[in-house]
Amino acid sequence: MAFDSDASQDALPAADAGIVDEVVDYRQAYESLVQFLYQAPLGLVRLAPDGEVQMMTPAAAMLLNALPGSGDLDNLFDALRGVAPQLRQLVADFRAPTGTVCTALRIALAPATPHGEASWLGLTMRKISPHALMAALSDCTLEVEREQRSLHDRLTDASRTDALTGLPNRGVAIERIQQLIDARRAGRARSFAVLFLNVDRFHQINDSLGHAAGDEVLRLLAGRLQAQLRRRVRGDGGGGHDATATRIGNDEFAIVLDDLGRPDDVHTITQRLLDALLMPYGIGDQQLHVRVSLGVVLGAQASTSGVEVLNDANIAMTESRRGGSLRYAVFEPAMRDRAARRGLIEEELRHALAQGELYVEYQPVVALDAPGRPLRCTGVEALVRWRHPRRGIVSPIEFIGVAEACGLIGELGRQVLAAACVEFMRWRAELGPRAPRLLAVNVSRAQLFLPDLVDMVRDTMCSTEIPPACLQLEVTESMAAEDEHVREVLAQLRSLGLSLALDDFGTGYSSLSSLHHLPVDLVKVDRSFVSQVDSSDYHRVLIEATVQVARSLRLATVAEGIETEAQAQAVRLLGCDKGQGFLYSRPLSSAALMAWLAASTAVAADAP
Ligand code: C2E
Ligand code: MG
Ligand code: MG
Repeated sequence: MAFDSDASQDALPAADAGIVDEVVDYRQAYESLVQFLYQAPLGLVRLAPDGEVQMMTPAAAMLLNALPGSGDLDNLFDALRGVAPQLRQLVADFRAPTGTVCTALRIALAPATPHGEASWLGLTMRKISPHALMAALSDCTLEVEREQRSLHDRLTDASRTDALTGLPNRGVAIERIQQLIDARRAGRARSFAVLFLNVDRFHQINDSLGHAAGDEVLRLLAGRLQAQLRRRVRGDGGGGHDATATRIGNDEFAIVLDDLGRPDDVHTITQRLLDALLMPYGIGDQQLHVRVSLGVVLGAQASTSGVEVLNDANIAMTESRRGGSLRYAVFEPAMRDRAARRGLIEEELRHALAQGELYVEYQPVVALDAPGRPLRCTGVEALVRWRHPRRGIVSPIEFIGVAEACGLIGELGRQVLAAACVEFMRWRAELGPRAPRLLAVNVSRAQLFLPDLVDMVRDTMCSTEIPPACLQLEVTESMAAEDEHVREVLAQLRSLGLSLALDDFGTGYSSLSSLHHLPVDLVKVDRSFVSQVDSSDYHRVLIEATVQVARSLRLATVAEGIETEAQAQAVRLLGCDKGQGFLYSRPLSSAALMAWLAASTAVAADAP
């Protein structure tokens, strides 16, 4: 087979002799180019879009014949199926115009002997017409080996190595990512991914167990990362042959996965890494459970700089952490806007806390007495609000998470508790027996990890003189069940004489069976259950079971978010003790609450 040339002298316009000579020269030059290419060490194949070989140079035949199990070479995709299964699909998905490179791969060929080195086949395919592709094949083993050696040399350089874990450091991570970005832009479209990993609440490990224990956790974690990635390089853990784990900050690691085979490989590898990292860590004589958050940037979405890719992976990591139950998040551009928005909220919130833009509203909680009896207010829940100078009233849903993430939650919680306790004592002074008997204040997940939470609550109780029995702190289910440390803090808070409520019950790691582990006095059934109590058997049964288990543990129950008489009737019949919701009252300013109390017929005499 040879390159065909459709150019024929007859078909040329008969012009003067000069033009004919030029055409002859052109044809000769073309023929010799074809001869040259035909004999060059580079393998060339012309093929149809379905892989059928139309022409092949001897060098290409030699390279392809070296493939393990290569049969006849009628179809290039079939010939390469064992070593590059993605090829057919890559070409089928390629939509760009004629003349462009549609794929550039380096294909690892299995070593001839068990201890032999793998050899590498370079493959670049270009679309030369709507019906034909040209593939260039070369043996790029030496080139890959050189790259790997130089990578290895640079990785082992001390100035580029993290002393604690022995992993390459941040500079190496950025350089490696940059190389992959550049390779991609140059048309060597290797698919890669960058993983950003952060240990959740690492400072807590340092604070409670000491820095030596913290260091040991990082070393063990780095070891597990490397072990998992070595499995991958050996080829027994999903396609691909190159991976670099780096430590880029205190408790932050970046993993660069190169040469990913199928798009799903990154998910398989990430899941496996997470499984390995979540196994308990033996520190001294204890088994420590460590959680990590992970963000992924796929090569196809990577920006043009290594630093930016790391930033994006960090943003995705933050999203996965905010998602709570998510194991990891894959970066998408919209996340950048959300992160910028969070950054803006953080800045404004800092200002708001300093300027006193936050204030508290109070939502009554009522006894679920028999219908027809006067409403009895058993207490109120304090709910923070932000009077934003431009955006108006901002809901806590928008800013509590930001306050937690940026370390402002401590100050926010202190301001809310102090303001609510002061108001509560004022109602008692002004309303006497008509004042609410119980003040519930929310405490978010991050607050329980602040070292001064218990002191702060104690100080506020002392300075405002609120009787301990009148104060209730609300914590959410997932965090209360979570770990020993949380249970210990809850016990310390309770020892101040206040009571604890389990908020939003049913939404977290729901487990009725874990209720008895928790040092709480009251369970608040989440609105998502209450809103369906009169329409869904499933939700009704869950509320009923919750009430029964709570009763057996001598815990009171509150149904949250009651909006209709039918819901009130349903939760009352199921045995809930108290209710809260728009049916009775929306959250109110202090003045409006006083008016509401005066207008509603009675206040509980026996709360809480
Ligand atoms: P939460 O503690 O479960 O508070 C109840 C939320 O449900 C409040 O939303 C309340 O306005 C809303 N709600 C009450 N009844 C109804 C109803 O009948 N229908 C509907 N649709 N909603 C109802 P809000 O004030 O927006 O607070 C949302 C969450 O923000 C709270 O949920 C709590 O987790 C958190 N939060 C509020 N204030 C604070 C605070 O001071 N500190 C902390 N850490 N978190 C707070
Ligand atoms: Mg609450
Ligand atoms: Mg709630």
